[in-house]
Amino acid sequence: MMLQTFADSDWFDRVPKVELHLHLEGAIPLNTLWELLQKYGGDPEVPDMDALRRLFKYVDFPQFIKTWVWKNQYVREYEDFTFIGEAVARELVRMNVRYAEVFYSAPDFFRHGLTTQGITKAIRKGLNFVPDVEIALIADLVRDFGPEKAEITLREVAEVSELGVIGIGLGGSEQDFPPELFERVFEEARRLGFRTCAHAGEAAGPSSIWGVINVLKVDRIGHGTRALEDPKLIEFLTQSGIPLEVCPTSNICTGVVARMADHPVRKYQNQGISITINTDDPVMFDTTLAEEYRALVDELDFSRSEIRKLILNGISCSWLPTDRKEKLQKLFSSDPNWQS
Ligand SMILES: [Zn+2]
Repeated sequence: MMLQTFADSDWFDRVPKVELHLHLEGAIPLNTLWELLQKYGGDPEVPDMDALRRLFKYVDFPQFIKTWVWKNQYVREYEDFTFIGEAVARELVRMNVRYAEVFYSAPDFFRHGLTTQGITKAIRKGLNFVPDVEIALIADLVRDFGPEKAEITLREVAEVSELGVIGIGLGGSEQDFPPELFERVFEEARRLGFRTCAHAGEAAGPSSIWGVINVLKVDRIGHGTRALEDPKLIEFLTQSGIPLEVCPTSNICTGVVARMADHPVRKYQNQGISITINTDDPVMFDTTLAEEYRALVDELDFSRSEIRKLILNGISCSWLPTDRKEKLQKLFSSDPNWQS
């Protein structure tokens, strides 16, 4: 491993970026979440920001989901979604993210009496306060609510797709809700003109990844970390070019991978699998996109030129129209921070 100068390390912050796997509710800046916590009377077990930070350490995936659910009880009204939408967009601008496709999990908030349509409108209102970053939305149908509810949510999303909802995703408890349950809803989503992706190979193994490929026919795979367990699957991913939304730090935090040096992303890159690098839930995993690039260089021997290619691949694998992709790729390559 080569020693880096300060300027080298700083480059990761300065370089323009895209994010394709980012959950709005996992990206709420800590101070924004703290304000929401106070708005609703707080939690005696979380008396200060340090306690909040400590809460975001997990031993495994189920504990992460538990913390996710705890946090969501403090996002209760439409104005909260506008508040977090604006805060997350400002953070993306600060990180030099120019384009992002962001998940939001409306079904998690139905218990507060909110609707998919209302949540979508409120988020878009907040995003519109920050014109320096373009954000497309992906509606997470959330596996844990089952396929019937997912079909209803999909119909509701279709009513507000003009607010920049370009795709649907499937997050939640992968180990308990296999992809096959959602075959019909994904078919319907495609018929309605949505792009599709699903989390797979994170909390469950290769069969879950095969399921999202063969049954859900996704355009992109969220994570795909455990594809490594199945050589036939690795071969298929290489040949087919289906992109993986790789989120290295997230996989360490939820215990899917023991340590960064063991992360399969290096093998995937060598193999020629189409990969994009993302943060997943940056605040909940105490990371940023710059940190992800740094980790790849420091611990997995990625070169800066490989990082540039990964960033450009993020644009290629986005769901922007072709002419917009080309414009963005030109904009990035001509950015003063691109080659420096
Ligand atoms: Zn995710």
